[in-house]
Amino acid sequence: TKATIADIKLREADMGAFLKVTENEAIAQAEAIDARGIDSSVVTDGIPLAVKDNIVTKNIETTSASKILRGWIPPYNATVVDKLYNKGMIVVGKTNMDEFAMGGSGENSSVKPTHNAWDLNKVPGGSSSGSAASVAAGQVRLSLGSDTGGSIRQPASFNGIVGMKPTYGRVSRWGLIAFASSLDQIGTFAPTVEENAQLLQVISGFDAQDSTSSQVEIPDYASKIGQDIKGMKIALPKEYFGEGIDEKVKAQVLAAAKHFESLGAKVEEVSLPHSKYGVAAYYIIGSSEASSNLQRFDGIRYGYRADDIKNLDDLYIKSRSEGFGEEVKRRIMLGTYSLSAGFYDAYFKKAGQVRTMIVNDFAKVFEKYDLILAPTAPTVAFDLGSRIDDPVAMYMADILTIPVNLAGLPGISIPAGQVDGLPVGMQLIGKRYAEETIYQAAAAFE
Ligand code: GLN
Repeated sequence: TKATIADIKLREADMGAFLKVTENEAIAQAEAIDARGIDSSVVTDGIPLAVKDNIVTKNIETTSASKILRGWIPPYNATVVDKLYNKGMIVVGKTNMDEFAMGGSGENSSVKPTHNAWDLNKVPGGSSSGSAASVAAGQVRLSLGSDTGGSIRQPASFNGIVGMKPTYGRVSRWGLIAFASSLDQIGTFAPTVEENAQLLQVISGFDAQDSTSSQVEIPDYASKIGQDIKGMKIALPKEYFGEGIDEKVKAQVLAAAKHFESLGAKVEEVSLPHSKYGVAAYYIIGSSEASSNLQRFDGIRYGYRADDIKNLDDLYIKSRSEGFGEEVKRRIMLGTYSLSAGFYDAYFKKAGQVRTMIVNDFAKVFEKYDLILAPTAPTVAFDLGSRIDDPVAMYMADILTIPVNLAGLPGISIPAGQVDGLPVGMQLIGKRYAEETIYQAAAAFE
């Protein structure tokens, strides 16, 4: 734990990956573990990790990188945090992120941007920017993030590490500060597939505190790692290799497909015809849910409160105007609009119908195939500052990850190679609860 804290400090001035390093708490916990003795039957006992700052930690400030939550000390732990502690894991810090997980570059943090671990002038991706970059920079070995439309897979891709978004319902959302409740899912970052699987093992499982938590058995996620993939059927959706996807990125992922073939998999092209509507449907559904979820931040119940208040309305308006950043306000306004009487049928309801079509596209492919292979993002990491004034350009970076959240499927991003000295990630998407198969194929490639 002390060595990890030293590693964090060594690179933190460059990286900006942490909002808080919980040095004293972590060392006290490590000493308590030393005193009782490491339990070698628990693979994670005494292992430090970092946790995204939208996951609440008892007695440790949790802000979701928003000014509106500055100073908020949660009185409880997220279920996943309790699960980490139960398996002897040590939380060494809270990682930087796009405010309320809204963003794809890490630049929407109210505190500071995070930098890409490979090139400090590039974005690390987002919104789990600090969780991904800190693992890639060697500050920590493991971390947790959250993925609503790509926020684990895309920064994993930009930083050349392994990021898993599990099936919706696999991991409890209790204590995850809600962005879009029907899409949000906590997941895992690690440098290797096996460690990723081991960490997911710790945080998975039914939780009565989360009404969308699945009552399904948790397999040993790593059990198929090392098995060959002969005869496995892998689909390449042609829409994921189309216009707007960088040619060099495509080439890397197609080369990876060839490698899967050489390992005995059967790789074929398929179609997911409604993919192109994913981004539009997502930004309506996600923003609508966010506008509702973020109503609780009113200047009274949590964190920041504006000064110089005349009356109650003034308190709400000033606290929210000063407390939320630009992107969060944009989503609240978009979401409130699409939910309002008169527009609901044209936007929110329509987006729900599109979502069903996307769900059905995947279901059809999974009647015949075990996995879907595609690039994780259309490009490698882009320059810091280059898209900050163009929200639509930023939203298009999510085009390949969003459909997976709309359908509630598991998806991993693993390194596929490099383009111009930067890592390229590829996605393996599986059937609901088929994380084992994803890890098996990912490890076979690795
Ligand atoms: N970049 C996407 C967005 O801005 C995804 C975010 C996420 O998965 N939390 O909404």
